[in-house]
Amino acid sequence: MAYLTTTASGQPVLILKEGTTRNRGKEAQKNNIMAAKVIAEVLKTTLGPRGMDKMLIDSLGDITITNDGATILKDIEVEHPAAKMMVEIAKTQDDMVGDGTTTAVVLAGELLKRAEELLDQNIHPTILVSGYRKAAVKAVEAMNKVAIQVEPDDRATLRKVAITSMASKAIGNAKEHFADMAIDAVMQIVEKRGDKNIADIDNVQVIKKTGKSLLESQLVKGLVIDKEVVHPGMPKTVEKAKIALLDAALEIEKTEMSAEIRIRDPNQMKAFLDQENKMLQEMVDKIDASGANVVFCQKGIDDMAQHFLAKKGILAARRVKQSDMEKLAKATGGKISTDLNDLKLQDLGIAGLVEERKLGEDKMVFVEKCKDPRSVAVIIRAGLERMVDEAERAMTDALSVVSDVLEDDKVVAGGGAIEIEVAKELRKFATNIGGREQLAIENFADAMEVIPKTLAENGGLEAIDVLVELRSAHEKADGQYKGINVFTGKVEDMKQKGVLEPLVVKEQAVKSATESASMILRIDDVIASTKPKEGPGAGKPPGGGEMPED
Ligand code: ADP
Ligand code: MG
Repeated sequence: MAYLTTTASGQPVLILKEGTTRNRGKEAQKNNIMAAKVIAEVLKTTLGPRGMDKMLIDSLGDITITNDGATILKDIEVEHPAAKMMVEIAKTQDDMVGDGTTTAVVLAGELLKRAEELLDQNIHPTILVSGYRKAAVKAVEAMNKVAIQVEPDDRATLRKVAITSMASKAIGNAKEHFADMAIDAVMQIVEKRGDKNIADIDNVQVIKKTGKSLLESQLVKGLVIDKEVVHPGMPKTVEKAKIALLDAALEIEKTEMSAEIRIRDPNQMKAFLDQENKMLQEMVDKIDASGANVVFCQKGIDDMAQHFLAKKGILAARRVKQSDMEKLAKATGGKISTDLNDLKLQDLGIAGLVEERKLGEDKMVFVEKCKDPRSVAVIIRAGLERMVDEAERAMTDALSVVSDVLEDDKVVAGGGAIEIEVAKELRKFATNIGGREQLAIENFADAMEVIPKTLAENGGLEAIDVLVELRSAHEKADGQYKGINVFTGKVEDMKQKGVLEPLVVKEQAVKSATESASMILRIDDVIASTKPKEGPGAGKPPGGGEMPED
């Protein structure tokens, strides 16, 4: 159906293409808010240490069991554009700080729910949005006011932060062990740039292998390469390794053209092959001359070259991934060479030990005992594949929060403590603003409380009672860290309990929740060019509204 309007003289004018649907005003807003709220509802029951898990089954029948917000939203296929924006929040949160995805989405859902109430009272979305934005700025300010500074060598606190981040993951008694590995790993890769710390957890390789137990997961000060030593005649262990990192093939390049070489005399044939072998031998000689006793090659290694390398007692692996080559360079201090002629002793990486070992069923090459590796590996072990997967997510959370705190040295109290504190400050702030924006800011304050409320609900507690108790605790002089202990149902000091989270995680959650809620609220018109689909519901606009009749 085409969109038509008429000119003053009654001439019809076609404005939108045929098949375009439109859904506007309150109707569009309601539909968008509803879709966003549905996503938030899905995640809500997973929040916190007593949250439930979701079982996700993809179109191929593969099963994932998790309560990780980002993973859940990645796996479910969302159609509605506003719902997609909620998925985006989780992704942004995950990319920026690596934790707090559920918090961000639940908060955005609640901001929209509270906004709906004000829209029903005929408050204009623009006022709502500007109120929400002011509230978000104030919320971040309030968080900073009660944030706790952490020294970069304060392992005890880092441990608490790591353990808190893994609270909702079902990895049982392995949390302490995982926290320690995460701290060791991140401390190893953190770099000083100017007066800033940069801890890029891409430099921590996480390897999963089914078998053994969670407690047998381990940190390798170096790297694990998922390749075998290429030739049986090579050593399987090299101590005091000097490692050549090659981005060049140890093969004779085959010509692009198809040339025909006629050989009449068997001697000629031999000379031809000898010539090839001689070239390969020269390549290996160059490697040997550099002093290398280990070779990692990004490209192929010819059978004959393998043989020559083996004769020299050099351990080699081929077709190593580019990303692994880069990590090898960081871990061993070596330089990747593209031309054998340039290979020098200074380019070689150093490792105390290079060894082929079995990990589960597979042989892998371990590069260990590097002196000051800028890249490390964590090997995750567990008996069940699904457990290994959840343990990997737990490890990634722990690595993220430790790196968050090393980069930005502040933490806040969890268990809803920070949210209640922010709500309190926002209510004070609202009264100074007055007018209709005040209502928006007050609603923002109420929305913050969805976090402790949900934590309590998921713990099977009376959420209203908990909220009342928390609010009054925060009115007292030393109440700013009071949160809900979901295991006992008591309001306790979360700083003392060691329930601590990076400030940046909470800041980012507020920022991205506000941003996407505002974006959704400002939409009053959904114009969609739908491709005609088969089956029921075909041609319906994504907003769920009806096709325009005019
Ligand atoms: P997210 O994806 O937002 O990180 P989680 O399921 O990891 O969601 O839950 C995080 C919430 O759980 C935070 O609000 C955190 O303060 C809270 N939490 C973690 N450990 C505890 C604890 N021991 N007691 C109470 N709350 C906790
Ligand atoms: Mg978390």
